[in-house]
Parts: sequence; C-alpha cells; structure tokens
Amino acid sequence: MEKRLIIAIDGYSSCGKSTYARLIAKELNYIFIDSGAMYRAVTLYCMRRNFISITAMNTRSILSELKDIHIDFVFNPDINEYETFLNSENVETEIRNMAVTSYVSRISQIQEVRQRMVEMQRQIGISKGIVMDGRDIGTVVFPDADIKIFMTASVDIRAKRRHNELKEKGVNIDFEEIKRTIIARDIADENRDISPLRRADDAIILDNSRMTIEEQMVWIKDIIDRKRNDS
Ligand code: C5P
Repeated sequence: MEKRLIIAIDGYSSCGKSTYARLIAKELNYIFIDSGAMYRAVTLYCMRRNFISITAMNTRSILSELKDIHIDFVFNPDINEYETFLNSENVETEIRNMAVTSYVSRISQIQEVRQRMVEMQRQIGISKGIVMDGRDIGTVVFPDADIKIFMTASVDIRAKRRHNELKEKGVNIDFEEIKRTIIARDIADENRDISPLRRADDAIILDNSRMTIEEQMVWIKDIIDRKRNDS
C-alpha cells in the first residue's frame, strides 16, 4: 500500500496556500485542512461576543469561552469542498470578510488560542494522508511532516491576486488598502512571540510570483513521487 503522507504548506498570507493545498489534497485523495480558517472562526466568535474591537481586546473573556468554541470542517457535496463550521453554523463566507481578516492576527497571537488550535490540528492529522496549510504547520504542528513547503510571492503580486479575487466576488476594495493589510499581516505573523511565521529548516521554498497553478502542481508532484519512492 502507498505510504500516506503529511504535507505541510506554510508561508505568507495571500500566496495561494489554501488553493494549492486543496488541489494537492484532491489529487492525492487526502484530507485538506485550512488552519487559517480555524483562527478566523475563533476571531469571528470573539467579534460577535464583542471581545475584540479596533481599540481593545478582552483576553480574559476570550480565554474563559475558548472551551465553548467548536470548529469543524464539513464536506459539502454540492461544491465538492469542505466548509468551516463554528458551533454547527456554516461560517465559510463570513470568516473571509475584511473585518475578520484585519483582527485575526491579534487573536492568533494569544498563546492559549494557539495551543487549542494545535491540539485540534494534531488530532485531525492522526490518520495521516493530510495536507494542512498555515503559518506554523511545519515548525510546530507537524515538525515531522513528510513534506514541508514554504510559500512566498512578492507583495504586489499577492495584493493583485487578492484584489482580483475580491472583484470577482463583487467586493470593491482599494488595491492600496489590500496591500497595506497584507504588509500588516506579514509583520504581525513574523514578529509575534509565539510560533512566529518562519521557514522550517527542512522546508522547500516555493516562490510562485511567476508560476501558474499548473506549474506548481507539476513541481509538487515530482517532490511527492520522490518522497514516496524514498520511503
Ligand atoms: O491563512 P489565512 O490568511 O486564512 O490565516 C489567517 C490568519 O490566521 C493569519 O494571518 C495568521 O495570523 C493566523 N494563522 C496562524 N497560524 C496558522 C494559520 C493562520 O497564526 N497556522
């Protein structure tokens, strides 16, 4: 039987990590987990409970309700994708909005929040045959992952992709604002004390600034084949 792998995809925001991880999982018939969606779901919960605003964050309340936050990924056969559920409610669309996007880095800095998410992520990974994308998957969640990829692309290209994506969805947001949000998230993710975004020593860098998704798939398939033949 073919060895089932754990594939960790980390990197900067808006590099296309989730799209890539999802495609790899489909190709291999593996489970795909978007760990960012979990931090986003916690953020949405905190926003709804008014635990976070532009000027303040009530960490004590967040911690006291952390045990009440349940996150699941439920398969939707109509779109052939998994969707994120927060306490049994489908929040897949809402967690992608700009407000959640701008608060999420603050929530993801809280140590206890990270601990809880990492526990859940490891639990999901127990069965192997998983592709997980995030910031600390290859460094903290699965330091022994079979394949670790660290994705990057220039800020302008990332902002442009995100801008197009939002435009397609009918959301009209200024390009410069998107760029500012991306830069702010890079800085927050790289400089937080706990599990900052950094490349694992054994991660392979993928700069996809000038690569199509098809080229990226050819690139990873080669790595996967070699890994399977090695072991
Ligand atoms: O990947 P995505 O952009 O949806 O992630 C949203 C935010 O969640 C990131 O900006 C980061 O602050 C946080 N995150 C994290 N660790 C992960 C995945 C995401 O801290 N493994």
